[in-house]
Amino acid sequence: MSDTLFSKIVRREIPADIIYEDNLALAFRDINPQAPVHILVIPKDPIPTLADTESHNHALLGHLLLTVKRVAEQEGLENGYRVVINTGQDGGQTVYHLHLHILGGRQMQWPPG
Ligand code: 5GP
Repeated sequence: MSDTLFSKIVRREIPADIIYEDNLALAFRDINPQAPVHILVIPKDPIPTLADTESHNHALLGHLLLTVKRVAEQEGLENGYRVVINTGQDGGQTVYHLHLHILGGRQMQWPPG
């Protein structure tokens, strides 16, 4: 497994508030929450960005979205939530290990910044 900040969380080398784990995915609370509920869902096996995914990743990508749904239910976000995948420089990505933000617990605005 290559070395990203989030891989260190997967390997429990740095602490995180992990709320869900299976063989492919991990979900943990963002260290700098932008909403009352702010969770990151990641593949355990790192891919830098969404733009680096290929057709053979289709099952993993589906699994990550279903994990978002499962975690959102677990967190009681029955009123809705926002899912964000910042991708590359213009997308505002800062950690180059694919991750899906789940933001909830308040009314989201549009357009995003
Ligand atoms: P990006 O900007 O790449 O879409 O999002 C990266 C996210 O990772 C940010 O929301 C940031 O707060 C979060 N983050 C960065 N470092 C850590 C960390 O060490 N632990 C946790 N739990 N979140 C982190």
